[in-house]
Amino acid sequence: MSVWMITGAARGLGLEIARAALAGGEQVALAARRPESIPEDVRNQENALAVRLDVTDATRIAPAVAEITNRFGSIDVLVNNAGRGLLGALEEITDAEARSLFDVNVFGLINTTRAVLPSMRNAGAGRLVHIGSRSGFEGEPGVSMYSASKFAVAGISEALAAELETFGIQSMVVEPGVIRTDFLDASSVQLPAGRIAAYDGTPAHATLDWAGEANHTQLGDPVKMAEFIYRVVSGPRLPLHLPVGQDALDRRTVMTDRLARELAPLLEASAATAHAEIA
Ligand code: NAD
Repeated sequence: MSVWMITGAARGLGLEIARAALAGGEQVALAARRPESIPEDVRNQENALAVRLDVTDATRIAPAVAEITNRFGSIDVLVNNAGRGLLGALEEITDAEARSLFDVNVFGLINTTRAVLPSMRNAGAGRLVHIGSRSGFEGEPGVSMYSASKFAVAGISEALAAELETFGIQSMVVEPGVIRTDFLDASSVQLPAGRIAAYDGTPAHATLDWAGEANHTQLGDPVKMAEFIYRVVSGPRLPLHLPVGQDALDRRTVMTDRLARELAPLLEASAATAHAEIA
């Protein structure tokens, strides 16, 4: 039995990961801005602990981690799941909107990770699971800021995997494709306040139109995805990246093929930029 801490666990993917972990017999701390909104059938389970945590409130993270370790003794698995979206062409997004997104998706994740690391290092074991996105390996029009935040998550996770291996701690970024959660609701995804009509009919606004139409019809099943993630996290070794869903797998292949194709004729010239004396 291991101890899981999951942020943003009141609904969506985080809640389903909590359900999968509880069904697997783990002890699960569900961290949520409003713990009272965690469904009772989960919150009231013997192995569940509901903890109040807004990941943007840095002063609350250490007390939340202490509450969990006081109850369960340790945190073996941290799932950084809390996140939200921001759509719009980059030109439409204000500095405040961009920074506020990064406060949740990036700095919330960094601060939560920093708070659990001392106990994982002392234990000589631990698993960090960061919920990134398909948008974290491919920037798409109308999603630049969200993509940027999830690219940051992927970079942080890769660096952590290398930094922490020596302490017995693993790190993985999960990169789901679209998931049928409330993510595209106004409660999660934010549209830019200053819409610029010139982008109508362009790819950036096509994404806005898609988001309006796709809500609650997305392909990915959060229950199946959560069970898959739980199975991988419970396995012998975490992969560095875990794309989840056919769309995520397809886009990863498109990106890898494109990088290889575009670079092939440039490889030699690129390598030749080294100092002559080193070459
Ligand atoms: P969701 O909106 O249902 O869940 C997001 C959760 O994060 C909610 O419980 C919300 O309350 C919580 N949250 C938001 N801000 C928070 C904060 N400041 N502090 C604590 N919790 C906060 O959507 P979801 O699809 O379940 O999203 C879960 C994760 O999956 C997110 O990181 C999201 O970026 C990622 N993701 C979603 C999709 C998708 O298509 N739904 C695709 C790829 C990745």
